[in-house]
Amino acid sequence: MSDQVDITIVGAGVIGLAIASQVAREGREVYVLEKNETFGREASSRNSEVIHSGIYYPKDSLKAKTCVEGNALLYELCQKHAIGHRRISKIIVATDDTEVNELEKLWERGKSNGVEGLRMLSRQELRKLEPNVRAIAAIFSPSTGIIDSWTLMSYFVGKARDNGAHVACRTKVIGIDRMPGGCKVSVEDRDGYFCFATKVLINCAGLHSDEVAGMVGIDLAEAGYKLHYCRGEYFSVGHGKSKLVSRLIYPVPRAGEPGLGIHVNLDLGGRMRLGPNASYVDRIDYKLDDSQKRAFYDLAARFLPFIEYDDLEPEMVGIRAKLDAGGEDFRDFVISHEYDRGLPEFINLIGIESPGLTSAPAIARYVGRQVEEVLSKCSVPSREVESLSSA
Ligand SMILES: Cc1cc2nc3c(=O)[nH]c(=O)nc-3n(C[C@H](O)[C@H](O)[C@H](O)COP(=O)(O)OP(=O)(O)OC[C@H]3O[C@@H](n4cnc5c(N)ncnc54)[C@H](O)[C@@H]3O)c2cc1C
Repeated sequence: MSDQVDITIVGAGVIGLAIASQVAREGREVYVLEKNETFGREASSRNSEVIHSGIYYPKDSLKAKTCVEGNALLYELCQKHAIGHRRISKIIVATDDTEVNELEKLWERGKSNGVEGLRMLSRQELRKLEPNVRAIAAIFSPSTGIIDSWTLMSYFVGKARDNGAHVACRTKVIGIDRMPGGCKVSVEDRDGYFCFATKVLINCAGLHSDEVAGMVGIDLAEAGYKLHYCRGEYFSVGHGKSKLVSRLIYPVPRAGEPGLGIHVNLDLGGRMRLGPNASYVDRIDYKLDDSQKRAFYDLAARFLPFIEYDDLEPEMVGIRAKLDAGGEDFRDFVISHEYDRGLPEFINLIGIESPGLTSAPAIARYVGRQVEEVLSKCSVPSREVESLSSA
């Protein structure tokens, strides 16, 4: 690695990798730095792997716009590059009259976000599509799908590398200092510490992206960048029950609760699981027991009458990087070129929770445009960067 590179991306989750694949090109030195042994070990491999359609988010928000655009881009990528996926579709079901009102609001929102093919189902249509689901009304979303997120990330890694980018794992960013025309990045790897200069720094550090923003001196409280961890557990459903549904089944989200409500996920192998639930936690811990099994059963049994308590087994945990601390107003993705904070070389991506997997290719395009702008105005860092130790 040279003392001075063009673009440094912190974090090799789906967002950092999608951006790397977008900005890498011949003659440009691009590095993705990842603290773990390999890419995609955190939120990007601990999620529902749903290609969302863009129903839930306020009109014109980044979440809505990047989700709708990302949905179309993902299907295109999957078809072109043989990335495992299925346009399986989804229904959102109401089980009582109050939920029907909420369902209608969701439908309106989805339509105004430009979600493709969205429609309300009659009871007969619902019964025909999903005879084993108990509901009185439903929205049908034909553009919702599922994807193999690991193959997607591998595709981004391959494309980035083909265009000359490097993905350095076991390489943790521990400090960032401003310098004329760029930043000095301090890094810890297996061999010790070293630092180098970069013209552009893109913070895609997921659950740690607030910490990374803090390294450059941004006041997190003042900027509204402090993250809150929100744990989501999954339970697998056994005993052949996955054959009783044909698509993803979601409840109407409950007002004020984080998450979309415990729903039916199906993976590409046809296995069924329920989740994720949502509870705020103070630390990142992926251990799972069956203490939430009863709550999962009770919530799912409202619309899945065939579920029995003994069908459920604890499966996996994912942690959301949320900007709201719970019960607060909607918070959008932060995708911020920090020019106004006097940091023209710094691009922050913070609070990239769901639908981040779906939005990844659209976010990459958006950040790609910001990067070109920074590089077009950028002068080469003038100061030599000293090594902190021999790497
Ligand atoms: C339970 C759950 C369910 C979800 N379901 C869906 C879904 O169905 N559909 C959908 O579209 N989205 C979903 N999402 C959202 C989606 O998973 C995320 O938006 C997306 O994975 C975020 O990717 P990322 O690259 O920002 O973060 P991550 O995948 O967490 O990657 C960040 C990376 O940065 C690295 N890093 C952190 N600090 C440093 C440092 N100092 N130095 C070097 N590396 C560092 C980390 O090790 C990590 O690998 C879900 C999320 C969760 C938690």
